[in-house]
Amino acid sequence: MCSTIRNTLEFREWALPLCVFGIIGAVMKAQKIETKVSQVILVHYGEIALKGKNRPLFERALRDNLERAGKHLGAGTPRRGAGHFVVPVEAGADPRALAARLVHVPGVAWLAAARTCSHDPDAIGAQVLEMATRDGDGSFRIEARRSNKDYPLTSMDLNRQVGAQVVSATGRPVDLTTPKDTYGIEVGYRHTYIFSERLTGLGGLPVGVSGTLISLLSGGIDSPVAAWKMMKRGCRIAFVHFFNDTEGRGGVREKIEDLVRILSLTQGPSRLHVVPFGEVQRRIIQFVPARYRMLVYRRLMFRLAEPIREDEGARGFVTGDSVGQVASQTLANMQVIYDASPVTVLSPLAGENKEEIILTARKIGTYDTSILPYPDCCSYLISPHPATRASLEDVVAMEGFEVEDVMRAALKETETLILGETPAFDTADLPSASRR
Ligand code: ATP
Ligand code: MG
Repeated sequence: MCSTIRNTLEFREWALPLCVFGIIGAVMKAQKIETKVSQVILVHYGEIALKGKNRPLFERALRDNLERAGKHLGAGTPRRGAGHFVVPVEAGADPRALAARLVHVPGVAWLAAARTCSHDPDAIGAQVLEMATRDGDGSFRIEARRSNKDYPLTSMDLNRQVGAQVVSATGRPVDLTTPKDTYGIEVGYRHTYIFSERLTGLGGLPVGVSGTLISLLSGGIDSPVAAWKMMKRGCRIAFVHFFNDTEGRGGVREKIEDLVRILSLTQGPSRLHVVPFGEVQRRIIQFVPARYRMLVYRRLMFRLAEPIREDEGARGFVTGDSVGQVASQTLANMQVIYDASPVTVLSPLAGENKEEIILTARKIGTYDTSILPYPDCCSYLISPHPATRASLEDVVAMEGFEVEDVMRAALKETETLILGETPAFDTADLPSASRR
């Protein structure tokens, strides 16, 4: 008696979803829903989904950024789904290359090169089975989710049904914790999407939604990382480099331009302003005592960059300062330096150790270029005994020398370049995003 009841329950457990499967399949066929398989990139965004009234603005920015980043690799116009974007992959384009490119777009939580499928459970099962057969042997897991909440089957039902189908056809074992392969199923409203590899994105916010910042880009390891971090928080970055043409600085221009090109993989084409700084430096060396030179040098950078900031409509500056790393980066000196700027100065690396900064530089692909040798700044600016607790009054008093004329000339001779992605800095140069 007991076993009859148990059998009946077990029968219900598997028979009910099967019946529903049959009904959905029949409905799909009756409605002649498009069953042609096409390739897409399924893009999920995390944080921007939480932004209440600003959500449409953030979604538009992400859509535009995805479209621009993927255009030359065969991406069509992204379509918004329920909590995700679907980027069509044009015929002949390589979905994996496109996925590898789009995963560098800030705001993307994760994405996957996926195939579209109808909602028909038989069709879903057949497509997953094809992938599972292609992948050979080893354990697997099915990870279904429904962004279409009207879909009559639960994610669990799909996991069980499709999993059972794969087990019976291939003999591959299920492992829910550490499987060799994971097959994703996402039931949307228009299509169901099937994929086998998920790439983890940067998260954060789409570039543009937080306004513009001016990055003071030195060519060292730190300032490119600082700029990248602010891109990830939705800031569009315009770059300013103060170019010291007084020493043999062959290769510096190329190095700075290369850094901007690499960073343009994250935000798209970027503007770089190159300000000739040699004359200003010579005046500093002539008029300022050695221990204060670095402070005056850095304050004058802010003063010189100010008209560029206004032209760019930027709300603030971003620098690569890290507290205590060099003498100009004691808290007291940072206060004196930043006082020369009328707007916010952000230093996203303030609390990071050099090793942490290097790790990020490697991840974003700037490290190898940053470490190319070049004279960082004129050796006369570096004092063996720099002031580490300068007072603002003292430093301001030392700025009284005649420098306006050379600053005006420097601004007049400033060159502005627009740099974008080039094949030389394709995603192949970047360490791949984490996969699972
Ligand atoms: P980085 O590795 O970014 O050069 P750093 O630790 O070597 O930083 P400094 O050389 O003192 O420190 O520079 C501090 C910050 O000042 C830099 O991160 C950058 O934002 C700015 N800066 C320094 N030199 C220049 C320059 N030539 N042009 C533009 N900005 C500069
Ligand atoms: Mg430096």
